[in-house]
Amino acid sequence: MISSKVCIIGAGPGGATAALFLAKMGIECILVDKAKFPRDKICGDALSGKVVESLNKIISDFTHEFSTEKFQLPCHGVEFVAPNLQSIKLPFKKDFETQKIAPGFISRRIDFDNYLINEVKKYSQIKLFEETNISFIEKQNDGWLLKNEDETFVCKTNLVIAANGAHSQFSKKIGGIELEHQHYCAGLRAYYKNVDGLDKFNFIELHFLKEFLPGYFWIFPLPNGAANVGVGMRSDFVSKKKINLKNEMLQIIATNPILKERFKNAELMDDIKGYGLPLGSKKRKLSGDGFMLIGDAASLIDPFTGEGVGNAMWSAELAALQVKNCIEKNNFSANELSNYDKAVYKKLGDELQLSYRMQQLVNFPWLFNFIVRKANSNKLIRDTLMCMFDDVSIREQLKKPSFYFRLLFKGN
Ligand SMILES: Cc1cc2nc3c(=O)[nH]c(=O)nc-3n(C[C@H](O)[C@H](O)[C@H](O)COP(=O)(O)OP(=O)(O)OC[C@H]3O[C@@H](n4cnc5c(N)ncnc54)[C@H](O)[C@@H]3O)c2cc1C
Repeated sequence: MISSKVCIIGAGPGGATAALFLAKMGIECILVDKAKFPRDKICGDALSGKVVESLNKIISDFTHEFSTEKFQLPCHGVEFVAPNLQSIKLPFKKDFETQKIAPGFISRRIDFDNYLINEVKKYSQIKLFEETNISFIEKQNDGWLLKNEDETFVCKTNLVIAANGAHSQFSKKIGGIELEHQHYCAGLRAYYKNVDGLDKFNFIELHFLKEFLPGYFWIFPLPNGAANVGVGMRSDFVSKKKINLKNEMLQIIATNPILKERFKNAELMDDIKGYGLPLGSKKRKLSGDGFMLIGDAASLIDPFTGEGVGNAMWSAELAALQVKNCIEKNNFSANELSNYDKAVYKKLGDELQLSYRMQQLVNFPWLFNFIVRKANSNKLIRDTLMCMFDDVSIREQLKKPSFYFRLLFKGN
């Protein structure tokens, strides 16, 4: 039997980042994953500025070093396509054409997650166990007992960080988080090659097509002319409308007047695969006696953009800071750990609520069309929308009807 004050279940971006933050603070931990890395994770593969910010804190010269990796593409902005097929391109930074380093990246998760695991392997403070599926968890008087099926892994720990993703049994059975269809999204991912018309600055594309609302269709460019193509829709709509996402996606590619031309020479490179996105549109309890939930296990995906990697890393950092407090005070109680919940919602709460409101925008296609049309002809609107990626206070303005009035009818 091995023992450690902290055991992290799941070595995806959330778990790996928590372990790296702990190691940086000189705190030892056990990190277990059922998979052997490199392993695939179904995802859009778009990595935001939040990811860059987190990794700059734990990997020296991350931005420069990562920008030289062949498996990633620098990403300078996003293109929104409105239901009437009008589109708007919003760069993340105004002078993007001359910027050497992009604010975001796109990288297949099989490569990105393996990059993180290679970083993990540099630290003697992190004991990494791959191919170890935690199937037995028991709370005992003096901590937790964790085991895999054949008991080749038996571990005693004071504190569990559950970072085992959207299908986490720990979140469900111990954290009490139930899957609620109105706070959950179903997603599909496909890899294609030879999709025409990809942006030369690798803007990611989000298409809000009238035939597929309230869902969205994406095309994210990848190295070597490949693209991550997918769809997402809230699960309550998928069941209410009895939608077969795979058929819908293939139908869009075959029939949408613009997309069918762009996919004329495209070839599917792999099976179309699906996975769930637990959305952060509802505030939940994220900790309890001797445990914390992070990333998808804590349902922290942005309900508007579908971004989850950045929030997994941000929650990982906050969990690591809480571990430090617990160890210093020798206190792993639910009361002490509730400080983690407070820290997460202080950092992400407003943003998640705002994104939930923006998610509702797709219920008003005319408003979506109107904003895109106006933004294309009005610099003030364009600049304001660009700032939304950086500035939550501007997103805050979006809650107020007076903001739209001023911007759309008075702005020049
Ligand atoms: C279709 C789709 C598109 C998406 N697009 C984007 C995007 O473009 N950008 C973005 O930022 N986010 C996107 N997301 C969300 C993103 O993929 C997740 O938010 C992110 O992976 C969360 O990281 P995590 O570390 O919490 O969990 P995961 O990445 O899911 O990692 C969990 C780890 O736990 C391990 N594990 C599970 N159970 C056990 C067990 N019992 N024992 C041991 N190990 C276990 C797994 O093997 C896995 O390695 C998308 C999601 C989907 C489904």
